[in-house]
Amino acid sequence: MTGHRILVVEDNEHNLKLVRDVLQYAGFEVIEARSGELGVELAVEYQPELVLMDLKLPGIGGEQALHLIRDDDRTHRIPVVALTASAMQPDRARVLLAGFDGYLEKPISVPDFPGQVRQFLTGNPADE
Ligand code: MN
Repeated sequence: MTGHRILVVEDNEHNLKLVRDVLQYAGFEVIEARSGELGVELAVEYQPELVLMDLKLPGIGGEQALHLIRDDDRTHRIPVVALTASAMQPDRARVLLAGFDGYLEKPISVPDFPGQVRQFLTGNPADE
């Protein structure tokens, strides 16, 4: 299995650890950022295949970080998926309007999460 490189931007340590552990166990390579600013920087540096972006972050929020990623030629093609709290129904429409490629709900489903992430990768799922 190829280690698809995923950048996770999340400031909550518990959520970050869970997402990281689940993705690493499924064979993904995980890059972590605990702020939007660092997330934008690491997207440029590491060129991940996908960014998972928390919305509420210290400093710039997830939407602003998304816009910075979209506005940079070095990162504008990278899909960015919002991590939203499942109770926050209005967030879902909002993240799509903001230009995210989709959203995944927190708390994540441990058994389903790797497959949900793969759906956002640009390659053919048959290659997995
Ligand atoms: Mn947060």
